[in-house]
Amino acid sequence: MIYKVPFVSIAKQYKKHSKALNKVFSECASSGQYILGDKVEEFEENLAKICASKYCLTVGNGTDALIIGLKLLGVNFNDEVILPVNSFIASAGAVVACGAKPVFCDVDKTLNIDTTKILALITKNTKAIMPVHLTGRPANMDIIIQIANDYNLKIIEDAAQAIGAKYYGRPVGSFGEVGAFSLHPLKNFFIMGDGGFITTNSHALYERGKLLRNHGLVNRDTAIEWGVNSRLDAIHCSIGIEKLKNFDQNTERFRQIALLYSKNLEGFVEVPQETDYEFSVFHNFVIQTEFRDELINYLTKFGIETKIHYPIPLHLQPAAKNLGYRKGDFPVAEEINLKQLSLPIYPEIQDKEIFYVIEKIKTFFIEKSSSRKVA
Ligand SMILES: *Cc1c(COP(=O)(O)O)cnc(C)c1O
Repeated sequence: MIYKVPFVSIAKQYKKHSKALNKVFSECASSGQYILGDKVEEFEENLAKICASKYCLTVGNGTDALIIGLKLLGVNFNDEVILPVNSFIASAGAVVACGAKPVFCDVDKTLNIDTTKILALITKNTKAIMPVHLTGRPANMDIIIQIANDYNLKIIEDAAQAIGAKYYGRPVGSFGEVGAFSLHPLKNFFIMGDGGFITTNSHALYERGKLLRNHGLVNRDTAIEWGVNSRLDAIHCSIGIEKLKNFDQNTERFRQIALLYSKNLEGFVEVPQETDYEFSVFHNFVIQTEFRDELINYLTKFGIETKIHYPIPLHLQPAAKNLGYRKGDFPVAEEINLKQLSLPIYPEIQDKEIFYVIEKIKTFFIEKSSSRKVA
């Protein structure tokens, strides 16, 4: 029996709840309130609760959440921001968009920033640290906060992949001055298009963020500073409010799937091990094996789609050429880069599909070791 196991299955979530979502869509469409308004505020209140933050501000996408977040921290020309070298391109792109310089830090086996390597990167121009809670696993915040306090640096958390993840029981996005999240359809919680939001506990940052996302306008006609247009549509907020009803259940399902993979694949490949401080939401489930490329081909033959997050580390991206990094600068990230593989993980995947993936991975390694013995 060969199943097709796609890497993601976005439309399934709509189909499962289409009746409720269609109703929400039609209500918003009929209301005529498409930009800002009640639904936007309601969605923001719900998100603030999940993130245990006082304030939430929806914006056009996760990248804008980072850019506006960095601006709120005063990041500007000549400033440096330290961030992990293993992330999605937007983490670094947002820093560059503020005119500042991304300074990359190697990662450790959690795939997150190696906190023992941050100190050496601090210069007189360092303004902020941007931990990324990659794959939905929280970065080691205590140490990052300690460093930020000692060196008078700001913290912006890139929590684009980690809505609902917790560090010692406290939600990510509530530790730094600012948290930045994405609602893109490929994240662990998503709407039907681009979207993002900022969390903060500072009333002043919240108020200024409201200006920055809306042309700097304090009222219809008066702009008190230069801003941009980065508002999240009311229709997407309505959809988001509806979809949040299944948030806890979906998060539990992500964790269940991760546990099934971990328990059954341990010994065959390296699996993520949750440390004592983490409650991960497993946006991605990343295994590591030196036979990665062979395994991809094998799984593809059996209809199982996998992905690499990310095939090119930030310092080796052509866009980063002027930053002056070279291959070999980040040995841990570069080694992980050759071994990592993301398996299908989403609430709608069925147990029989998960066990099929597990069985095929095991068979790959069993066949491999027996063919070696024959040779
Ligand atoms: C997706 C992502 C972003 C950007 O979010 P968008 O909504 O796609 O703009 C930023 N950082 C990380 C780590 C991401 O995964």
